[in-house]
Amino acid sequence: MAEKDTAYLSLRNINKIYPNGFHAVHNFNLDVKKGEFIVFVGPSGCGKSTTLRMIAGLENISKGDMLINGNLANEKGPREREIAMVFQSYALYPHMSVYDNLAFGLTLQGVDEDVIEQRVMKTAKILGLTDYLDRKPRALSGGQRQRVAVGRAIIRKVGIFLMDEPLSNLDAKQRVTMRSEITQIHRETGATTIYVTHDQTEAMTMADRIVVMKEGYIQQIGTPYDLYFNPVNTFVASFIGEPPMNLIKTVIRDGKLSIGKNVLDLKEAVKKDVLDKYNGHEVFFGFRPEAVALIPDSSVPSFTLNCDVELTELLGDSANIYINIDGEQAILKIDPHQMPDSDKLEFYLPAKSMYLFDSETTLSIL
Ligand code: ATP
Repeated sequence: MAEKDTAYLSLRNINKIYPNGFHAVHNFNLDVKKGEFIVFVGPSGCGKSTTLRMIAGLENISKGDMLINGNLANEKGPREREIAMVFQSYALYPHMSVYDNLAFGLTLQGVDEDVIEQRVMKTAKILGLTDYLDRKPRALSGGQRQRVAVGRAIIRKVGIFLMDEPLSNLDAKQRVTMRSEITQIHRETGATTIYVTHDQTEAMTMADRIVVMKEGYIQQIGTPYDLYFNPVNTFVASFIGEPPMNLIKTVIRDGKLSIGKNVLDLKEAVKKDVLDKYNGHEVFFGFRPEAVALIPDSSVPSFTLNCDVELTELLGDSANIYINIDGEQAILKIDPHQMPDSDKLEFYLPAKSMYLFDSETTLSIL
């Protein structure tokens, strides 16, 4: 097997039970390839940081195995794991210059001054910090401090690079800039990275693969494309994508489903065995706000739905239309040039953009 195809980090049935008995992470399984950029995403409290801290060696693993390069690492201390971590709080040394903050880890390791200087200069160049090397952290902007924190981690040339919500202290504009900078640094260094965030946009834009978590359980692991187009359950469907996927509870009957007066014939779009199995069952009918069209296109098999417009929001590059389909609330995201001029609206949903989920298990049934 080629080296790049082998797992560099393997997490096998990892569990975390805190001393107070709280089971924060359940049977977490993941193989990370060398050089991959993995993002753990999920709402607050889902166990992202706990998992990251177990990988870093800052929390012990209650059950399960962690392998780095094929070697069991459960009992190794944080330093032996060849891992660097960037925290939400940048944890810079306030009395040291940017140069010394960057150099500190290498100095501790007893690396030659010449080599340290070379690496500091190279890291500063990658991060655009060359002009700030003499400054103390207090004389830097939030974004610059964040870059120093990232620099302190990448300068060490470790095997795995862990980041816990590193952009959460930045304003919205700085976050967008740093997002692309971190992606760029990852491209340049090729370091295997695990990045924790609760922000699905960060996950979608940065990750090779995303791990979606909820209440200590992995919900789905996949590329941003997989998660967006093929969510396994309603949680992933509504967590990934902004605005979230519309989910409307209804019943499949005789190959059709109804949303108020709108009747959608599913026979062309859904396999007969699925329609038979779910006949008389409650399902969630799902569609993404941006998947609809306001102008019919006869070349695309589509469902037609009628609704009332409750509110419109012009965002510039798009517009959100808050609608009511016979009592069911939903959002459409449309081209701003197609703003409806009446409070009644007909829209078209391509059949391939429809999702159906079992209302009990919440799992996708298509
Ligand atoms: P956030 O985005 O808010 O940081 P998270 O997904 O990173 O959330 P964790 O910090 O991993 O979540 O916490 C997971 C769960 O474990 C939470 O319910 C939290 O309250 C609990 N927890 C964290 N630390 C401890 C601890 N030391 N003892 C007991 N429970 C803990």
